[in-house]
Amino acid sequence: MPTLLPILSVEHPCQPQQYPKPRFRAISTRDRLLAYVDFLAAIYDRYLAFLTVQPLGRLPISLRIAWVIVLSDFLGYFQHWLQHRVSWFWHFHAVHHSQRELNALTATRYHIVEYLVSQTATVFAFKMLAVNTPTIVVVSAVLTWYARFLHSNVRADFGLLQWILVTPQSHRIHHSIEERHYDRNYGTYFCIWDRLFGTHYTGGNEFPETGIKDPDFPVEKTIRGWSLLRTPMLQLVYPFVTIARELRQRFARPPAEAKEPAPLRNAA
Ligand SMILES: [Zn+2]
Ligand SMILES: [Zn+2]
Repeated sequence: MPTLLPILSVEHPCQPQQYPKPRFRAISTRDRLLAYVDFLAAIYDRYLAFLTVQPLGRLPISLRIAWVIVLSDFLGYFQHWLQHRVSWFWHFHAVHHSQRELNALTATRYHIVEYLVSQTATVFAFKMLAVNTPTIVVVSAVLTWYARFLHSNVRADFGLLQWILVTPQSHRIHHSIEERHYDRNYGTYFCIWDRLFGTHYTGGNEFPETGIKDPDFPVEKTIRGWSLLRTPMLQLVYPFVTIARELRQRFARPPAEAKEPAPLRNAA
């Protein structure tokens, strides 16, 4: 745990009393994370506290954190697998995959619905294992920064550690636009689940183009003027519009004309 603490101190290197109180204060990543985790923790404590596995609360904190990271990583793998296999979930997850130039900010490029569901599930899993709120914030901050590194446009595979950890290069394969890479490397932090369930990509030293092929997805074409506001709004409504269109087609089309569904990443 001591190795985790410098991450927070980088954002707040000095004690607050060393500065005059500012009239306006920027909201840091830690503040937003703390507020969100606090909000979820309050809901859990009020309505779901009976789910807490009390005996785990007596284990050393390091063991609880290790257990929670491994468990939440497995749940993350399963959730990610569902997002690629269930078309309605995929339409939300497509926002994350639509990035053509991976960078650290891709790690925060999620549809708001996907973000809220995954963060809520993670915080509730931590609370069920009797991990307190400050610890959740520290662990979440570390995992958030690791996710940013994974999405960075770097060609790094970590040597022998690639047998255990997800690396920037293995996650790039997951974002690849090439069909031979589809539905591979679902892992978030550890690749052991991919190896265990046969979804690990065992190809060579590749660095493919990224993105999705759906011609209807509203990708960014320019960074000027009105489109800076319009494109994110279109991406926000994209899953709902696509699901509504699929439902219309399903109920309008006679059963005899029904076709095999296209692969999810190509689906219009
Ligand atoms: Zn994915
Ligand atoms: Zn990703």
